[in-house]
Amino acid sequence: MPQNVLVIGAGIGGLTAAALLAKNGDRVTLLEASSELGGCAGKFKRHKFLFPAGATLGMGLESGGIHERVFRFLEKPLPIEPLETVMEMIHPDHSFIFLKDRKQHVDAIISHFPAYESKIRAFYREIYATASIVRTMMDPLPALPPQTAKEWAALAGAIRPIHSKLLPHFNKTLGDRLKRHGLSELTAFRHMLDGLLIDSMQTGSDDVSYLLAAVALDIYHEGAFYVPGGLYRFAELMGDSLKENGGVLKKRRTVTQLARSGKGWTASDHRGNKYEADAVIVNAPIHLLPGMLPPELTRQLKKPLLEGAKGETWTTLTLYIAVDSSKLSQPLPPFRQISTGDGMAEGAHFFMSASLPGDVLRAPAGFQTVTISTHSKAGHWDTQEKYDTARETLSERMLQAIEQQIPGFRDSIVHLETGAPKAWERFTGRPNGFVGGFPQTLDSALFNAISHRSGISGLYVCGDHVFPGGGTIGAAASGIHAARSIASKRLI
Ligand SMILES: Cc1cc2nc3c(=O)[nH]c(=O)nc-3n(C[C@H](O)[C@H](O)[C@H](O)COP(=O)(O)OP(=O)(O)OC[C@H]3O[C@@H](n4cnc5c(N)ncnc54)[C@H](O)[C@@H]3O)c2cc1C
Repeated sequence: MPQNVLVIGAGIGGLTAAALLAKNGDRVTLLEASSELGGCAGKFKRHKFLFPAGATLGMGLESGGIHERVFRFLEKPLPIEPLETVMEMIHPDHSFIFLKDRKQHVDAIISHFPAYESKIRAFYREIYATASIVRTMMDPLPALPPQTAKEWAALAGAIRPIHSKLLPHFNKTLGDRLKRHGLSELTAFRHMLDGLLIDSMQTGSDDVSYLLAAVALDIYHEGAFYVPGGLYRFAELMGDSLKENGGVLKKRRTVTQLARSGKGWTASDHRGNKYEADAVIVNAPIHLLPGMLPPELTRQLKKPLLEGAKGETWTTLTLYIAVDSSKLSQPLPPFRQISTGDGMAEGAHFFMSASLPGDVLRAPAGFQTVTISTHSKAGHWDTQEKYDTARETLSERMLQAIEQQIPGFRDSIVHLETGAPKAWERFTGRPNGFVGGFPQTLDSALFNAISHRSGISGLYVCGDHVFPGGGTIGAAASGIHAARSIASKRLI
């Protein structure tokens, strides 16, 4: 029987759940606080320029990838451009290129460290083999940690004899495996991996869960994509699909309260409107959930969710820049990481994404828009003085590092603005601009992750703080889990 479902927040997780359930025939209402869809994967416009707010690099769009399966189910094809050269990774002593082809990629890395050839080959052989085993779980996509008999059964049903090879690695970090391969002292190699991991796993090789790191280091080989216009197209297509399937999408509706009414729920927004539903999916940041619920319900939330709601993650400083490409010796490449060698955060490591020349959805001919982001600790932004200093220092650090790589970059800038933590809080509702989800360390990944089941019947959570974690793929997967639990079927 169709259910009335309320989804709070039109980030990638909420939109995925809402669109799937509407397509399934459920009556879905999606409430979004801002005037834009997509949250961290949304966009904003300035004059003739369109800027992706955060996410820019498309993954999971290859055949069988998470987003591809969702768009196929929704019958919403998305124009994409596969990348053979995924990104440049600029480090102080080496400039690497991430190539889609696994063999070419490993050969290119080895060309920087010829003395370590056999060790690096053995390391990548293991990484790719591990990732290919983990990937066999992507089709059934079991939810972790299992909370119900059905979820245990789904997990058991997804397990094959080959998965026994993963068992010894469950409590290992990537650092453990690097040591085993005799690569932990190869600092430049390790920093290159750290740069990739901080952007996808929110932590480096020392702490990251080995199984998830293997997937993160392998995923671009499966497919990395430039999406013309930007990843906001995901949100746009899922929003369209929701409405075409009878769903209701209301922007500028901040949900402030959630209460039980009979077997269902009543939500109230900041304007005093009330919404009744059989089930609710919260894609608003989990930090806000305890404040929405009455205390007696808050106490019923599962412990990891309750603790996660108090937890801190990285915040970010983002630069949004438009450049006149004619002033540069060549157009900017779409994706580039730059590390100055002073750590993986605070402007010493950052990710720089530019629109492809000719992507007129983002910038008129002759111009490119650029989104640049670095990780930062919230504690560097907690007084007005620190806030102003951090914004200035980190911006300057990144601009100087870019200018070193691309002489004339500053002169080519025609628009520059910053997205500091408070701007992120305003745009996405994330307290202190906590973005990216929890670092995928052993104590917060996989069986220790936050389940999409809140612990209260009919109340679910999704987004990058929830299993399987960050990135648009992780957020979408948790949305799929929430939708499946409500629909009591697999959907995709
Ligand atoms: C700078 C940056 C760069 C990134 N780059 C990439 C990348 O290249 N590739 C990639 O895959 N991922 C990237 N990510 C990660 C990715 O963008 C996020 O993990 C993902 O988009 C998070 O989705 P979410 O479902 O958690 O929702 P969110 O993005 O958190 O959206 C939640 C939505 O809920 C709304 N909301 C909040 N409170 C309320 C309320 N009370 N009532 C109603 N609505 C509410 C918000 O307005 C927002 O729209 C990046 C993230 C950042 C910050």
